[in-house]
Amino acid sequence: MFYQSGILLRSSALRSPRTAHGFSTRLGGVSRDPATREMNLAFGREDPDSVVYENIGIFARAVTGGRYGGDRVVCAPQIHSDKIRYVTPADAGDGVTKRSPDDEGYDGFVTDEPGVILTVRVADCVPILFCGMKKDGSPVVAAAHAGWRGTVAGIAARAVERMVSLGAARESIRAAIGPHIGACCFEVREDFRDAVSSARGEDFASRHIKILGGSLHADLTAMNLEILASAGIGSDAVDASADCTACRPDLFHSHRKTGGKRGAMGAAAAILD
Ligand SMILES: [Zn+2]
Repeated sequence: MFYQSGILLRSSALRSPRTAHGFSTRLGGVSRDPATREMNLAFGREDPDSVVYENIGIFARAVTGGRYGGDRVVCAPQIHSDKIRYVTPADAGDGVTKRSPDDEGYDGFVTDEPGVILTVRVADCVPILFCGMKKDGSPVVAAAHAGWRGTVAGIAARAVERMVSLGAARESIRAAIGPHIGACCFEVREDFRDAVSSARGEDFASRHIKILGGSLHADLTAMNLEILASAGIGSDAVDASADCTACRPDLFHSHRKTGGKRGAMGAAAAILD
């Protein structure tokens, strides 16, 4: 279940004493532009960089209960891929105050070390946060940005596999799918269905792309639930937000609703020292 916690949304599925997580909304930041207010975590939009830095600091402290500031955040240019980067505290600041190595893009992060806040940015795309445990009880966390391309590329399953390869027990892994554009508002065309079909097969496409009110609509929640299930993470281990970002412009940034004139929300997970 998702619940409001200060300026964030959190998932009861990921509650654990040694980890922290949160999904931002439009609330609680210092952006003043109508397109980005109040909380925008993306550079290069309507806000000066100084405003985005301040928002990142507010977000980082909210996520970690004041333990870590914005200097612990790691982000990356997101490229709608299934690429996930393993990071440690030494990588904090990449994508924020420093460029990512080789200036490469990534759509997710995984770590088993405390002290780094894995952050993905979204405005209709699907943010997915993960928490799991090794046999010795130590945590492993991951964060993924799943637009439709990342979704059909299977980034959710890739995140699970990366966690398992770090030692997380698959049966310990929980996932929270944060607010994103719902099937209600994600109207697509035939060429979209063709692209999904060629990536994951005709059956997958027809299960998740349906006619609603005379046009095709895609269900990114259901796609990611199926992909997580294929990686051994059943729906009982997944919490999916029912919020649609395009239906609630008061609460969320939505790329589609605004034609791209918008800020971005963050979704973050960290292990605490
Ligand atoms: Zn909607």
